[in-house]
Amino acid sequence: MLPLTQPRISTEIPGPLSQELLKRQADRESNARSYPRRLPIAVARAEGSLIEDLDGNVFLDCLAGAGVLSLGHGHPELVAVAERQMKTFVHGLDLPTQVKDDFVEEQLSMLPEPMRRSTRIQFCGPTGANAVDAAVKLCKTYTGRGDIVSFQGGFHGSTHAAMALTGLVEQKSPIANGMPGVHFFPYSSCHRCPLGLRRESCDTNCATYLERSLEDPNGGVDKPAAVILELVQGEGGVIPADPEFVRRVREVTRELDIPLVVDEVQTGCGRTGTWFAFEQYGIEPDVVIASKALSGMGLPAAVIMYDERLDTWAPGAHSGTFRGNQMAFATGAETIRIVRRDDVLGNVRARGAQLTARLDALRERCAWVADVRGRGLMLGIELADPETGERASALAGEVQAHALREGLILELGGRDDCVVRLLPPLVITEAEADFAADVLDRVLARLTVRPARP
Ligand code: PMP
Repeated sequence: MLPLTQPRISTEIPGPLSQELLKRQADRESNARSYPRRLPIAVARAEGSLIEDLDGNVFLDCLAGAGVLSLGHGHPELVAVAERQMKTFVHGLDLPTQVKDDFVEEQLSMLPEPMRRSTRIQFCGPTGANAVDAAVKLCKTYTGRGDIVSFQGGFHGSTHAAMALTGLVEQKSPIANGMPGVHFFPYSSCHRCPLGLRRESCDTNCATYLERSLEDPNGGVDKPAAVILELVQGEGGVIPADPEFVRRVREVTRELDIPLVVDEVQTGCGRTGTWFAFEQYGIEPDVVIASKALSGMGLPAAVIMYDERLDTWAPGAHSGTFRGNQMAFATGAETIRIVRRDDVLGNVRARGAQLTARLDALRERCAWVADVRGRGLMLGIELADPETGERASALAGEVQAHALREGLILELGGRDDCVVRLLPPLVITEAEADFAADVLDRVLARLTVRPARP
């Protein structure tokens, strides 16, 4: 089989073989399936940043397994490590192994120096949502309190508790009796301020509102067990938190002895240009949640790392059969070594800057691009009607579909999916980043040529 070298489209999308599998899937799998509805391809194989479908079409993958494949598909060194480990020992519950010890060592070495020494790590069932649940349970156990503060627009997963912390009203409303005691506060979404303010005239009032509510004896909110925060809201539309907002959230939670949980499921493992996004905000959280890209190649793993004073759990307090994926640990430790050796974080920053410059230029040319934002290789463009300011969700859907037909896989996010998202592997090359920007450029020019809405 020839190696995949560049995007190449040779059939309609979906091609005939993909169509057949998509139909078989629709006949047998649940109605909750999501990605194939907007990215209708059946995958045959993948290498690096490229995916080939059953019909021989090759796409640049700017979704990367929803931000999982930091070193791309099938990184040869990771494949070799995983193969070796598969033949040695695979499923370890939470028994100690050398490979797990190595993984812990490497993970902790990525934390800033003062935190590193007082951090405990808990291996969770291997999804981000399970780790979110674990963090909530830990904070409830430590504080003896029951309420949680979360932020509007946030996404924390699809289990009962993680979904309760998530902003998506439509997804939550069919589920009666979700986890109670969740209070939503406004996030620093400055492009569309939830308090109706403008950047120039605001005093980070979203932080003021949180501070006053938590401190007000008549505020109606019981002192919570935790405040949970994404430093860049990913599914919520790639919204980096305002630094002053984060600083003040940290300050008030510290003053009131409320554990601050940062959900770095998506922003972690180098995605934003530093190993964790919180490093860029100059804060130390009490709990860090990491999952998606921990193994570097899509093998499931999830952890919470927290200050040792919180470690009030009894033995077995957060158990789970699949917490000991030795292949993920082996490739995870190797990923960190490769990230250091190859300066992958440098590539994230360089490619992030390159793409941001291209998207900013696109904004100058296309009035429908209302905002360009993100950190590192977690980028998004919000589309809106230039006349009314309304979110242009239909256009975003069209952009995604047209880009796919030109060999580019993109994600959508944000309110009503009006944000076109780029979440490529962290090893995306300069030429690949240019390809992504070229496609977006062409597609947006084509779709917005007439002022009428598409
Ligand atoms: N937290 C955040 C910030 C996420 O982006 C996601 C997944 N998109 C999750 C939690 C849930 O992770 P998982 O899908 O692995 O349960």
